[in-house]
Amino acid sequence: MISFSEKELAELPVANIGQVITCPVCGGEHKLLGGHNRDGKETTQLLFYKCGGVPYFGGLLGRLTPSLVPYQEGVNNAI
Ligand SMILES: [Zn+2]
Repeated sequence: MISFSEKELAELPVANIGQVITCPVCGGEHKLLGGHNRDGKETTQLLFYKCGGVPYFGGLLGRLTPSLVPYQEGVNNAI
């Protein structure tokens, strides 16, 4: 189980269902999908994307997982 502290989450970019991400697996672009809640509604509680038919973890609680945050020179120097 992947977990983040509230502070870590707050520092991550906001992620939305349907948002296009650059795939770290194939280098292509995929849309973020939301997991379904008990009512069958898509939510940003758990986000994922599919690459080659395989689902990958994309984020949670409306935030992008750190591995999908695009590299920005001067911003993510620590990575
Ligand atoms: Zn891909």
